[in-house]
Amino acid sequence: MKKKICIFGGTFNPPHIGHIRLAENAADKVGADKVIIIPDCIPPHKEASQLARAEERVEMCISSFCSDKRFEISTMEIERGSRSYTVETLRELKKQYPDDELYLIIGSDMLETFTQWFCWEEILSMSTLIAASRENGFEPKLDGFSDEQKKKVIFIETEPLELSSSEIRKGIYSGNEFDNSVSKEVFDFIRKRGLYLEGDERYDYLLNKMLDEKRIFHSRCVSEKAVELAEKYGEDAEKARIAGLLHDIMKNASAEEHFEYFSGMTAVEKANHKVWHQFSGEGFLCRNGIISDDEILNAVRWHTTGKADMTNLEKIVYVADFISADRDYPDVDEVRRLADISLEHAMLYTSRYTIQKLASADMVIHPATLDCYNDMLLVFGKQKG
Ligand code: FE
Ligand code: FE
Repeated sequence: MKKKICIFGGTFNPPHIGHIRLAENAADKVGADKVIIIPDCIPPHKEASQLARAEERVEMCISSFCSDKRFEISTMEIERGSRSYTVETLRELKKQYPDDELYLIIGSDMLETFTQWFCWEEILSMSTLIAASRENGFEPKLDGFSDEQKKKVIFIETEPLELSSSEIRKGIYSGNEFDNSVSKEVFDFIRKRGLYLEGDERYDYLLNKMLDEKRIFHSRCVSEKAVELAEKYGEDAEKARIAGLLHDIMKNASAEEHFEYFSGMTAVEKANHKVWHQFSGEGFLCRNGIISDDEILNAVRWHTTGKADMTNLEKIVYVADFISADRDYPDVDEVRRLADISLEHAMLYTSRYTIQKLASADMVIHPATLDCYNDMLLVFGKQKG
């Protein structure tokens, strides 16, 4: 038997309640067996901060639409890697579903310019349009359509929804209340990663949301110290500033949150929860598209244990974490004095200090910490024997 398949494409940035109602009403109207939601592809060089990444838009579409079993998400346009013409997508779907009836869901304002679409007549030959009336009772004249073609347009009346994606994005951050313009899952998804916020606005939002006051103060102190060290040792001060600011972003996370971003723990790592946040912190920043710079990510990843062959930026964040203005452990002045001589002088001292402290408390030592210490000893040619 012929199946009825509705197709609904869009940027879905983010998918909102207007999209969901339109797709559901269209599917109900024709008695659809399947609804394929197709997030479009925006070429990467055009991706502005106001545009979520493709995988994020897909994930938000899944949580918005797929509780209804008729719905599925297709990444066919995203996989093409460039903007698609609707006709190309329809040709592909027609090949996949040669015997079924295809319905293309569009807004009524799009219908007015439909005859300017690339290969619009071919689109109509392959599918029936389901046009949503944005204003009640409004039906465009369909200029340029033949009588046969007019028969291939179905109007549905959906409750008019004045929702602009940019207003929705603003609304999501304007208060703590759940904003009904998107699904609860999408609302949480956006706020969890500070999506649609940019640069310092995003970092500050995440710090305030994820860390306690004392830890935020510490992060700002480390950031300041990292900038100072970067300037002294000829490194990128802006990268040092950001890495310092975000190095402890997962410090207050629950065990489940750590595990979400840090899998494949070794036995030693399992036994030392103090190192979890460096790995989960890097995972959180990277996977959520907050930081894409590998040097910053690695500086976060190794700021607690250290490791062998560290880059200068990694050393800077590691050392800044020991000597930031908020630190007051007994040896801090000595470490500050050594950091003034060289990063390596400070690191030899601090890695030894860490190892001694852990060993005297019968605590496991991460192999990367031992590597870091050995590396520094070799730098100074200090090893005996
Ligand atoms: Fe830390
Ligand atoms: Fe820290």
